[in-house]
Amino acid sequence: MAVIVDVFPARQDNYGYLIHDEATGRTAALDAPDAAAIRAALRMRSWTLSDIFITHHHLDHVEGIGELKAAFGCRVVGPRDEADKIDGLDELVGDGDRVMLGETTFDIIATPGHTLGHIVYHDPKGGHLFSADALFSLGVGRMFEGTPGPMWAGLERLRALPDETLVYCGHEYTESNAKFALSVDPDNTVLQARAAEVRALRVAGKPTIPFALGEDKQANPFLRADAPEVARHYGLEGHPAADVFAATRKGKDNF
Ligand code: ZN
Ligand code: FE
Repeated sequence: MAVIVDVFPARQDNYGYLIHDEATGRTAALDAPDAAAIRAALRMRSWTLSDIFITHHHLDHVEGIGELKAAFGCRVVGPRDEADKIDGLDELVGDGDRVMLGETTFDIIATPGHTLGHIVYHDPKGGHLFSADALFSLGVGRMFEGTPGPMWAGLERLRALPDETLVYCGHEYTESNAKFALSVDPDNTVLQARAAEVRALRVAGKPTIPFALGEDKQANPFLRADAPEVARHYGLEGHPAADVFAATRKGKDNF
């Protein structure tokens, strides 16, 4: 058996996710953006919360922990490197660790940059990646705490996951990401097609999440820092990919 993923909007532009292990009925909230939205999603599915998996310390990912823990007595797993910044963690994990949700195994991958201790949760068997603010559709999180080298290295590890992987990220930023991506890499036909699809989804009021990692590898300029087209855009041909990544991140900040 596998997991069922329930996707719902939370706060302004966050996504909330419930991950339900079919074999055991255990249900995890991926981050805790908004206790009320998570409780409503649980009621709709008639699930009860057993776990919370936290990715990083930002308020829009942890604010609901206290209320949910009080209501459900759930286990809260989170990044060891940010334990001092997050209240209510029961279990601390870091790169290479594994977390079980019933019969489903999640591999923890460190993705420093947006925050220094940011982690993502990967279900290799089901092909799900919960990337929070490390990797968005056609973009990446703002580099608040990290430096380009380690941030690029973390993204390279996500890029090495199978193409069929479905990515569930922390925010609905895809449309603005697409505009920036097209400014960097205008002749990329995979990107053009994805941008058109995203526009249609948003016009119809639909989420652009989850997205296929394989397509994002070809369309997301932040995953293409070693592609000559992206390097050329910044006049950095022949430079290390981390330098191109840094220029792209800076370009997006000022876009
Ligand atoms: Zn964040
Ligand atoms: Fe966020």
